[in-house]
Amino acid sequence: MNNAPLTLALSKGRIFEETLPLLRAAGIEVLEDPEKTRKLILPTNRPDVRVVLVRATDVPTYVQYGGADLGVAGKDVLLEHGGDGLYQPLDLNIAKCRMSVAVRDDFDYAAQVKQGYRLRVATKYTTVARQHFADKGVHVDLIKLYGSMELAPLTGLADAIVDLVSTGKTLVANHLIEVEQIMDISSRLVVNQAALKLKRDALRPLIDAISAAVQR
Ligand code: ATP
Ligand code: MG
Repeated sequence: MNNAPLTLALSKGRIFEETLPLLRAAGIEVLEDPEKTRKLILPTNRPDVRVVLVRATDVPTYVQYGGADLGVAGKDVLLEHGGDGLYQPLDLNIAKCRMSVAVRDDFDYAAQVKQGYRLRVATKYTTVARQHFADKGVHVDLIKLYGSMELAPLTGLADAIVDLVSTGKTLVANHLIEVEQIMDISSRLVVNQAALKLKRDALRPLIDAISAAVQR
């Protein structure tokens, strides 16, 4: 029994593009193109549903604190965020890629790891990277970056990177090779836990419709 609008947080680019068909299947059309407008709040064909555009890494934060009722975020982003306050009902199977370790193509990764050297690893994903190397018993110094990870091994900033890979073309273009795949990544629906109770009448049918669209 709540008539407040539903706010859906999306990031521009592949997540927005790949979420659109799922929304459409659930009867929701976004009425403006984020690449053509400067607006950050986009209306939909449903007066009770709006989309807010936020940075990919900010989606879990918006949903956690109720700035949005629900959103779409990559598993990579969710693992770094930790998932507090988020209900994660659905893997949307979109924005698929993998998280991998890559090094310069002339770097002998296997030998370095075997000999027990400390490896310098640059990444945006420090939580996942720390866990991965701890599980392997490899000693690492982690260097936090916010973008262009590929540059780190080329400039001597790091021996290795942990980054997202889909086609691998960016790695090849920068003389890097993928030496380990850590996990498969896709994007999930995340819902504010309080909203799930307070706006259940509006949220439940929407989640169910998106779920049906994913299975199709
Ligand atoms: P920004 O580009 O604004 O710095 P970002 O790099 O986090 O932010 P995107 O590149 O749009 O934003 O990535 C958003 C999400 O899409 C990521 O969190 C990840 O889950 C997924 N993703 C990233 N790179 C790829 C890729 N190469 N192929 C498929 N999915 C990807
Ligand atoms: Mg990007």
